Amino acid sequence: MKMLLNGEWVDRDKKIEVTDPFDNSLVDTVPQADKADVEIALAAAVKGFEITKKMTVYDRAQILFKTAAIVAERQEEFAQIIAREGSKTINEARKEAMRTVNTLTVSAEEAKRVMGETIPFDSFPGGENRKGYYYRFPIGVILCITPFNDPLNLVAHKLGPAFAGGNAVILKPATVTPLSALKLAEVMVEAGMPPMALQAITGYGPAIGDQLVSDERVRMISFTGGLEAGKHITTKAGIKKIGMELGSNSPVIVWNDCDLDYAVESCVSGSFWAAGQNCIGVQRLYVHKEIYEKFKTEFVKQTEKYIVGNKLDEKTNIGPMITEGEAKRVEKWVNEAKDKGATILTGGTRDGACFRPTVLENVPENATIHFEEVFGPTVNLYPVDDIDEAIAKSNALPYGLLAGIFTSNVDIAFKAAYELDCGGVMVNESTDYRLDSMPFGGVKYSGLGREGIKFSLQEMTEPKVICFHLPKM
Ligand code: NAP
Repeated sequence: MKMLLNGEWVDRDKKIEVTDPFDNSLVDTVPQADKADVEIALAAAVKGFEITKKMTVYDRAQILFKTAAIVAERQEEFAQIIAREGSKTINEARKEAMRTVNTLTVSAEEAKRVMGETIPFDSFPGGENRKGYYYRFPIGVILCITPFNDPLNLVAHKLGPAFAGGNAVILKPATVTPLSALKLAEVMVEAGMPPMALQAITGYGPAIGDQLVSDERVRMISFTGGLEAGKHITTKAGIKKIGMELGSNSPVIVWNDCDLDYAVESCVSGSFWAAGQNCIGVQRLYVHKEIYEKFKTEFVKQTEKYIVGNKLDEKTNIGPMITEGEAKRVEKWVNEAKDKGATILTGGTRDGACFRPTVLENVPENATIHFEEVFGPTVNLYPVDDIDEAIAKSNALPYGLLAGIFTSNVDIAFKAAYELDCGGVMVNESTDYRLDSMPFGGVKYSGLGREGIKFSLQEMTEPKVICFHLPKM
């Protein structure tokens, strides 16, 4: 595929190969952008903003509605691209394509709800005879950097609200999965988006990232990805707005009064969805000691039913990790935990990029797989005695995206909801639940700001105050 620069689809001699991580077959190539391409993107985005800021809300919303309609029509095509270039199974990919339609539809709806308020200037002495209000205006050029694990919907989560708010976008998708993003850009243009409004540039983050991130023409960076790249970007950004959707190692508490079978089912799915490459995937399970053995036995039994392998086979539950290198990293972390005293209850083996779903117990606190984000198909079980201990252990690490608790006791549920230190608590649900229109984001190293269309729109627009100093009335 080509990249979209300065209103045109362009190719370059230097290419990046996009391969299927299951069998390393070539899916397609994309151009490898260089520094000159970055400059073209930056200059064009400024011109693009001159167009988008003058478009009516109605026109912007209509384009987003039409984009959603085209994606809905071609859902299977999008699902096939997601499943080929990334590591999702075809069924997981279909769900992502369906969610993308919703993300774009809600973006179109929310475009019409960006409002301001009147301001009571006379509420403080000195403000007499003043009347006014604020309205929200677009920020300008927004640089959107996206990860590999939801290669379509997370792009829609940035393009939808950015355009709903009247901004221009430079999109830099993950190098391993650029095709879903380019296809969405193509559909957006087909739906009527002025091509100058969107620059979709493909290239290696470490090679072109600093130039994009540090440029003063970019007024906001909306980044979703890992902590390391996120930290680097914050050091290069200079004075501009930054939104950061980073990782986590999500805790879930399973209490002795919950529906155990349901908790097992929900947590197994939450641990291994997308081969665990999921920012809200369950990584730490704190289980009440009275039900620990039963939960463990059932959890391992359910995990062992998972079919690992070919993503395009309808029966497969878990596809490969995004690269063999990533699968090797997870293998190393599992073995390190084992060397430090952890027990592998099931899994722990690798075949190329495929890593079997793995359940661990007795994981010591100094094992990397305990305190870092694993971003792979592994989960740790820990028995706990009381709710204070469960909450304290859940909060003990420097991440805080979502947390979960299974209980039928409303007091315990409320206590957990208020004391768990994170961006959202799922009660009787694993952490792997997200409605695309809910406020989504984390505390601590899990991020800065919130996404979730309406909330992204707040971040991607600024309030402007208008104050009329009137003659005495
Ligand atoms: P990543 O390695 O951090 O890459 C994310 C994006 O950043 C890619 O487009 C990458 O480009 C780019 N990038 C890397 N270095 C850069 C630099 N120096 N300057 C500018 N851009 C740079 O993350 P990933 O492996 O794709 O995704 C996994 C991570 O994303 C996990 O930590 C996961 O938890 C997190 N995530 C968070 C959320 C959320 O909403 N909170 C959602 C999904 C994923 P290249 O591909 O070219 O390197």
